[in-house]
Amino acid sequence: MNKLTCITVDVDRIDQFNSEKVQTLTETILDLFSEFGVRGTFFVCGESVLEHQDIVKWIAEDHEVAAHGYFHRNLRQIKTHELRQEIRMAHEAFEKIGVECVGFRCPHLVIPPHLGPILRENKFIYDSSQVDSFFIAQRLVFPFTRMKVDDIIEIPIQTFTVLRLPLSLSALRLLGPKRFAKHLPDTIDHFYFHLWEFDRMGSSSGDSSWRSNTAHQVGMKKDLLKGYWDFLTGQPTSPADLTGRNTGEEAIKIVHILLKELAQRGTKFVTCAEWANAQIASTEPL
Ligand SMILES: [Zn+2]
Repeated sequence: MNKLTCITVDVDRIDQFNSEKVQTLTETILDLFSEFGVRGTFFVCGESVLEHQDIVKWIAEDHEVAAHGYFHRNLRQIKTHELRQEIRMAHEAFEKIGVECVGFRCPHLVIPPHLGPILRENKFIYDSSQVDSFFIAQRLVFPFTRMKVDDIIEIPIQTFTVLRLPLSLSALRLLGPKRFAKHLPDTIDHFYFHLWEFDRMGSSSGDSSWRSNTAHQVGMKKDLLKGYWDFLTGQPTSPADLTGRNTGEEAIKIVHILLKELAQRGTKFVTCAEWANAQIASTEPL
């Protein structure tokens, strides 16, 4: 059986861009996906689902669209009854526009207590928020919440390297389009990125500035540590520059190289809903 891989996109709040830009960025992603036969999963906030029905329905023609909260707020900072209401509203947004929604991803990947049972009450079949990484903010701010297996199907964000970075475009962008491929893990189950990463950000988002004084064949750890060091010390780039590093064309290039590599490995791309349904249908692990 071919390896099953989920490619997921956090669209977040669509209104962060003008609708023309959303259209262009979405088109770029959909073109990339069709080039490699990817059926992806797009996580969109309920609020944006209602405001941008046309875009959501357009994506849903060939891909899965799932809920990413209703307001894209931190779900650990609200009370349980508010959480229940927010998740219900997110599901209802999809019902209102007639697009099926069975999956959920917490904004900022911060998992609140009681999430699993509340998702189940609201007809969700899976969650995809868990990331067992040292390097995301909630690990520092909140105790790590692991979903209970019997609550709901969890499709975790894959981590890679000894640093347990999330296997995300944000991490690969730190390495840059020329360097990331050699650090990819042998098995890729899940890769995720954000729509906004395909938009060029920051004045020095090209990778030349931070690489200029870095020796040629440096190892990944050194690259990453330098990236984080730059981030922590604010030199020579600002946090905004780090966030913006290798966005736009470079980000598209990275995803293109990655999908090509996966296609060459004989990967079968599935949506998260397909992955979850296959898991329900089978007692065997995938
Ligand atoms: Zn998000």
